[in-house]
Amino acid sequence: MIERYFDNAATSPVDPRVIEEMLPYFSDAFGNANSIHEPGRRASHAVDLARSRVAHLFGLDDPNQVVFTSGATEANNWVLQRGGTVAVSPFEHASIREAALALNARILSNDNYDLSYGDRSADLISVMGVNNETGAILHPPAIGGSALHRDLTQAVGKVNLSQFEFDLASCSAHKLYGPKGVGALILKEPVSIEPLLYGGEHELGLRAGTLNVPGIVGMGVAAAIAADEAENDRRTVVELRALALHELKNLTDFQLNTPPGSSPYIVSLSFLGVEGETLVIELDRAGFSISSGAACSSKSTEPSHVLVALGMDPVWIRGTIRISFGKYNTGAAATSLGKELRRVVEKLRTMH
Ligand code: PMP
Repeated sequence: MIERYFDNAATSPVDPRVIEEMLPYFSDAFGNANSIHEPGRRASHAVDLARSRVAHLFGLDDPNQVVFTSGATEANNWVLQRGGTVAVSPFEHASIREAALALNARILSNDNYDLSYGDRSADLISVMGVNNETGAILHPPAIGGSALHRDLTQAVGKVNLSQFEFDLASCSAHKLYGPKGVGALILKEPVSIEPLLYGGEHELGLRAGTLNVPGIVGMGVAAAIAADEAENDRRTVVELRALALHELKNLTDFQLNTPPGSSPYIVSLSFLGVEGETLVIELDRAGFSISSGAACSSKSTEPSHVLVALGMDPVWIRGTIRISFGKYNTGAAATSLGKELRRVVEKLRTMH
């Protein structure tokens, strides 16, 4: 049941309005957006509209600052491969972190999310907007002369985007009720980037390959809906979060890893004496979908690099779960989730 799906940071359900606008681009309007005939022009106009909708969501005047990609992983890798020296925050998603490690980039030091320590000189600094494990809103260190990249994947359609300054930004449609496999790199002048893929003249010559027109259309609709409704959704999510957490108030030996001022969409909780993974499985049995961390590393046995970077004790890290809310959750489902979580934690603790 969609209202019991609390793993929206992993991916979100597709809004039916998005599906509806995508459908013709699989059938009647199947043209290649680079063809000059009528079917091609129809596809091309749809892509233009999607581009301006995404630009509008980011408050950009020029739609050509939006380059469509296959998702945020691609956009993030592309940015890091831009050349020059790179420094990234220690909290980044694997698509930045692994690329940074492969390129021998510097990982910035931090004190409880404060990144203003140590050597911060680099040609490019990458600091995500909203952390995908804890929901924390990250602030980049004051830097002069570096290009600033922000991975806004967990911020778009959730929190106010005007708070983020950037030269380059990444995002993904499937985190904002759009389809999977489509995202964008936002490029502000005068920052430039070498083409990612060479071939046809697609995407201003920066990313060759026949465009994923239905996906791009879907991302555009998702962006337009977010521009109209995100603020309202956020208010609902604040209430849902409070309802779920309220049910845990009498529980002992647990902590909220999400700092004040975070995105309300993501809550990280740790429980002493239980395994996060076991909680995920027990809640799944009860029909609730949550996660024990980032979906991309949920099959790994390594402790989360985000929680390690925060200096958390391994005993607490082991008992960590992530609840991520979305617009299809209901108050009743949030309350039941909190109740069920408390019941399962108490049950598991008596089994020791
Ligand atoms: N960055 C962040 C912060 C994410 O949460 C994700 C998705 N887990 C990505 C990048 C990767 O996005 P995509 O699935 O579109 O490649």
